[in-house]
Amino acid sequence: MHILLLGSGGREHALAWKIAASPLVTKLWCAPGNAGIAREAECVALDIADHGAVIAFCKTNAVELVVVGPETPLAAGIVDDLATAGIKAFGPGRQAAQLESSKGFTKDLCREFDIPTGAYRRFDNAAEALAYVRAQGAPIVVKADGLAAGKGVVVANTLAEAEAAIAMMFDGAFGAAGAEVVIEEFLSGREISFFALCDGETAIPLASAQDHKRAFDHDEGPNTGGMGAYSPTPLVTPEIHDQIMARIILPAVAGMKARGTPFRGVLYAGVMLTGQGPKLFEYNVRFGDPECQVLMLRMMSDIVPALLAAIDGELRHFNLRWYAEPALTVVMATKGYPGDYQKGTRIDGLDDAATIEGVEIFHAGTIEKDGAIFANGGRVLNVCAIGKTVTEAQARAYQAVDRIRWPDGFCRRDIASQAVEQEKASQ
Ligand code: AMP
Repeated sequence: MHILLLGSGGREHALAWKIAASPLVTKLWCAPGNAGIAREAECVALDIADHGAVIAFCKTNAVELVVVGPETPLAAGIVDDLATAGIKAFGPGRQAAQLESSKGFTKDLCREFDIPTGAYRRFDNAAEALAYVRAQGAPIVVKADGLAAGKGVVVANTLAEAEAAIAMMFDGAFGAAGAEVVIEEFLSGREISFFALCDGETAIPLASAQDHKRAFDHDEGPNTGGMGAYSPTPLVTPEIHDQIMARIILPAVAGMKARGTPFRGVLYAGVMLTGQGPKLFEYNVRFGDPECQVLMLRMMSDIVPALLAAIDGELRHFNLRWYAEPALTVVMATKGYPGDYQKGTRIDGLDDAATIEGVEIFHAGTIEKDGAIFANGGRVLNVCAIGKTVTEAQARAYQAVDRIRWPDGFCRRDIASQAVEQEKASQ
């Protein structure tokens, strides 16, 4: 098969690595890709926002499957446009992608199909939103309705913070994405990510994971796109797994089908494990980054037939196999991230680090110049490892981190530490 992957981050490097391992693949391209992806796929400088250019590339190169990594092209309807052109693409169409591109859409779906989530209201003006938060009090959560590159959620601990967030959003901080705002009940509990592969009708669970959103150790510092993740998470017991499938994943798939906009692709549920059971705080319509990286390490089955079965509505016949071993990823970022940072600093020692048993290094933001690798973004590397235990996976990953010579980078030193402590306690 000829396959084209869209995206340029660590998630896409992990997908490229897994897709390239499939015996079904004769040629893999990635647009636009990065220096690490270039080892698995031929990178092409296509503007993926230009759907016409993507379609033309597919026709010229007889591409039979397009795999879409990030949410922006999904929300822009690239899967619909490719389908109209007769090209198979993995991911939801524009309507179904609203599960991520509109928080209000998702909350209304939850209400209609009885999916457990926090109480909420939608607002299109600041005055009513302010009156509502004053009546509710803090803590409370203020969310821009649309896509805001992971920055559109403010968990307000005080009324003043909630008021400031409302003012900022209606002042246009997120452009059209903030023209509508959802105000949601604050959910307290432990947070996990849950992934399922959906074909419009059937959903099969992929795996659970836990990510680490704050920039620094002990969950301190600003929120980021994710500084590390591990899978599976011991927080998702078999009982909680079944509750999430029955109450959060399957009703969404059934609801989207009933509305005539079936969901095909990866449904990623951000779930809070509360005193009243698992509650949804968001859906995403694609693999998480960096959770995808650990999921790909743990997936034993060929991914390509699974992607095709999701597109073709054939998942009810499908079974995915997984390695039982836990996997973990440590994100290395440029100093300053998630604030301002410099681009173009040199990274050495990657090949040596990758020789450690169980270690796989995915690139999230790199470029290659004259045979050397340079940082080209905030999140730059995903140092991943699989091991018999979380303790072993963690030791391997940090051993690899220590072999990477990059004075301008930093990482958290406590990825999966809670799971490691739990392992120690149960020995
Ligand atoms: P998001 O950008 O939707 O991933 O949200 C960012 C973070 O905000 C999530 O990872 C949660 O930690 C937090 N969050 C979102 N909604 C809620 C909620 N209703 N209650 C508590 N925390 C929330």
